[in-house]
Amino acid sequence: MKISMNEATALNCQAMSIEQDILLAEKYGYDMIEPRTMDRMRDYLAAHSIEELAELFKAHNIAPLAFNTLCFFNNRSPEGWQGIKDELKQMCEWGQKIGCKTVITVPTVDLKKVTRSEIHKSAVACLKEMGKIAADYGMRVSVEFIGHPAASINTFGEAYEIIQAVNLDNVGITLDCFHFHGMDSKIEDLAKADGKKIFIVHLNDTEDFPIGSLLDEDRLWPGTGCINLDEIFQTLKKIGWAQDVVSVELFRPEYYRMNPNDVYRLGKEHAEAVIKKNFA
Ligand code: ZN
Repeated sequence: MKISMNEATALNCQAMSIEQDILLAEKYGYDMIEPRTMDRMRDYLAAHSIEELAELFKAHNIAPLAFNTLCFFNNRSPEGWQGIKDELKQMCEWGQKIGCKTVITVPTVDLKKVTRSEIHKSAVACLKEMGKIAADYGMRVSVEFIGHPAASINTFGEAYEIIQAVNLDNVGITLDCFHFHGMDSKIEDLAKADGKKIFIVHLNDTEDFPIGSLLDEDRLWPGTGCINLDEIFQTLKKIGWAQDVVSVELFRPEYYRMNPNDVYRLGKEHAEAVIKKNFA
């Protein structure tokens, strides 16, 4: 099992950048990082080329796992939807250059008076088109449902129904353990799914606040909170998940006050403990 670090985990630690993330990932024995397109990559590319980024990854033997994040893809205005497609193409072009195969996309939040069937219909139509665009570049689109009431797709079951209806090999799901717990996604729904459709796993844990009230800042090191991670991973094993990589993704202000070296060290230690417990 490979271990990846999502750049969000040390996002607001002092003096961080994509260069620093790659260096720390190498130093602490990670295999991959997840580049953030909205800030880390944007900042880097303001002064460098995408080819230089490809060289940087190669020089430190770190691979890019998935782009984070193509935000708010469904139920958009015509202009908003055009923006999504443009952004997707941009990420696909970058992906080809740096060897990143997956774009993570998240559902629109704070939709007002839009029914669940309208959400399902729009999400399926958008993802069919996005899947076709990505396929031209040999890329995958991975839908990350958000475990919060304001998100238009907020449980595993809803997200899985959507990608089943899309029915494209290169469109699947990002299972973020925090989001799985956040709106009480059902383990039975995961048990019925095809593990091959789980493209990315975000590993984390959370404080035990009530369902529907959890925020990203409540995330904890994997294995130190209330999520039944063992149940999730044992189920993933049973449904044929590739067991290829987990990515540590937290947004905890307390960890942002730490030295980023410690964030990388502790992230790896906690991820390894969960992996060791669940995978031979
Ligand atoms: Zn995530």
